[in-house]
Amino acid sequence: MINEQKDEETILLKVEDTPSCPRCDSATLLLAQFQNSWKNRLGEDVSGLKEAVLCPGCDHGEPVAAELLALFAVDDQVSPENMDVFGGLVAAWVESVRQRTVDEEALSAEFELWKRGEL
Ligand SMILES: [Zn+2]
Repeated sequence: MINEQKDEETILLKVEDTPSCPRCDSATLLLAQFQNSWKNRLGEDVSGLKEAVLCPGCDHGEPVAAELLALFAVDDQVSPENMDVFGGLVAAWVESVRQRTVDEEALSAEFELWKRGEL
């Protein structure tokens, strides 16, 4: 059975007063907050609220992020006219960030176990 929870998912976006980039400490353009869930080592569902920032310096190498950055470069502010395009790109970007975040979490969990000699 397929669980259609994706449709109920809320992504919170902030374009003003966004935090500085955790990677390079420069100004970011967008902050997204979204629900994230993944399976832990025991196969249990774990969920939490994730945050991601869009950084011109760090994220331009990713195709989806680059498209978003281009939109900001043109319009500076997101307007009602480009809201559809913006919404689609943001959804795609959050999806790519989600994959990356899960990978990092899986890796760091393995690393913790490795340090404790459980692998
Ligand atoms: Zn950065």
